Amino acid sequence: MKDVFDLLVVGGGINGAGIARDASGRGLSVLLCEKDDLASHTSSWSSKLIHGGLRYLEYYEFRLVREALIEREVLLRAAPMLVRPLRFVLPHSPEQRPAWLIRLGLFLYDHLGGRKILPASGKVQLGGTPEGRPLKKWVSQAFYYSDAQVDDSRLVVLNALAAQSRGAEILTRTRCRRAWRKGASWTAELEDVRSGEVRTVQSRALVNAAGPWVSHFLQENLALDTKSRVRLVKGSHIVTRRLYDNDHAYILQNDDNRIVFVIPWLGEFSLIGTTDVPYDGAPQDVQISPEETAYLIKVVNRYLEKPIAEADIVWSYAGVRPLYDDASANPSAVTRDYTFDLNAPAGQAPLLSIFGGKITTYRKLAEHAVQKLAPHLGAGGQSWTADEPLPGGDLGDPSQYAASLCQSRPWLPRELATRLVSAYGSRAERILQGVQGLDDLGTCYGAGLYEAEVRYLIEQEWATSTQDILWRRSKLGLVMGEEGVQLLQNRMAGTELATEANAAWA
Ligand SMILES: Cc1cc2nc3c(=O)[nH]c(=O)nc-3n(C[C@H](O)[C@H](O)[C@H](O)COP(=O)(O)OP(=O)(O)OC[C@H]3O[C@@H](n4cnc5c(N)ncnc54)[C@H](O)[C@@H]3O)c2cc1C
Repeated sequence: MKDVFDLLVVGGGINGAGIARDASGRGLSVLLCEKDDLASHTSSWSSKLIHGGLRYLEYYEFRLVREALIEREVLLRAAPMLVRPLRFVLPHSPEQRPAWLIRLGLFLYDHLGGRKILPASGKVQLGGTPEGRPLKKWVSQAFYYSDAQVDDSRLVVLNALAAQSRGAEILTRTRCRRAWRKGASWTAELEDVRSGEVRTVQSRALVNAAGPWVSHFLQENLALDTKSRVRLVKGSHIVTRRLYDNDHAYILQNDDNRIVFVIPWLGEFSLIGTTDVPYDGAPQDVQISPEETAYLIKVVNRYLEKPIAEADIVWSYAGVRPLYDDASANPSAVTRDYTFDLNAPAGQAPLLSIFGGKITTYRKLAEHAVQKLAPHLGAGGQSWTADEPLPGGDLGDPSQYAASLCQSRPWLPRELATRLVSAYGSRAERILQGVQGLDDLGTCYGAGLYEAEVRYLIEQEWATSTQDILWRRSKLGLVMGEEGVQLLQNRMAGTELATEANAAWA
């Protein structure tokens, strides 16, 4: 096993995985370590939008919005199964923002980022339209515009897969517990959090992509300090059964000047969020509060004809944004842009810490991060990720692809084909390889999850627990019955024991 690398990346969220992909594609030898599962923190708790961020225009974040709008189209091409166009309806509520201001914002939104794939924005009189039906009668007109929706945690996994396919080593459940610098090299102790075994590696550069732990990692694990500070801002979501039957998302303006999204999700659910609450607890303990739940319900009920109540909530989650602290008084105004802190004393191995960022801009962040390190590594090559599909993303139109899978396999239910394609793209073929009929897929755990998919996730996507499979590699946890979860838990218990016994360091 190799123990000397060009780059050690600490953190397997979207930023760490994106940097590992970019760097390995430029010929650098890369090791990524993640103390939990890939995407087990902020990168699976987002609003799941690939968006320019219409509201950031009010804070004059033109650079960020432009970059995000460009990235929106890049990602729609790179992973069409995971990143899907979504039309937004913005009910006009004149006491919040005047129509001219919204029109100006939408004009900029349409033109700042070279939009090609998505349709332009516009205005609509709601009377009698499908978009107007779920809304209260006082809402007579609305604006509409386009953005995209993403499966955030799967996007992280795809980046890790892309990095691995270019030679990177990806270690999950592996904590970087200490690292120190001697001349042109870092030495790091990586602890397998399940077995407790420690592996010591060396690398020529270190990336701190620890998200909400970015400052903690600097101070506690590296014994270093920096002027840059992270600002933790909690955001929570609630999930209900689908609240209306059209395919649009709604962006609702509240009287505190914030906005709340109601987004159609996974066919049968509505995803509602988010909040902005200053947070000073441990990132892993973050939870939605009763006040946030009440806040989200109140905003929805101001606009939707059919009111919702706490009893309608089927799931909720909360995450912590690891924002760069720009000293804003209002948590909603803290910049969503990213900042790098490069610590590279002459003749010594560099350390790059990442503050802030969005899922939407991760690829560009990764490109900039590797470019920043390139002079120190004496390598770096060209930017290469803008036109390169993510693993499984080379499938063309996802619904046509699913149809063709069913055509060549008449036994394959359309619903299963559609789900597999929307999760794995063309890699769905790996699950179906050599399978002649439903029986060949093995045990069915319920909700269309078969042993063949479970095996694929364990062998090829680093899944080691029921949670990894039901809540990060998929969201089947929302629809699977208790019996199925128990069955899967029994099956995974064997895997976890085996994983521990074979502890990967051998
Ligand atoms: C409520 C909310 C809504 C959002 N909505 C959107 C949205 O709709 N669109 C969008 O583009 N962005 C959105 N974002 C922003 C986006 O989710 C984050 O910017 C992004 O996920 C941050 O990724 P990250 O890799 O920096 O952090 P994380 O995903 O948290 O990853 C950091 C990882 O580092 C690991 N780690 C820490 N310390 C160590 C160590 N010592 N050793 C090994 N591993 C370690 C952690 O376990 C963690 O998995 C939202 C964020 C929130 C909270």
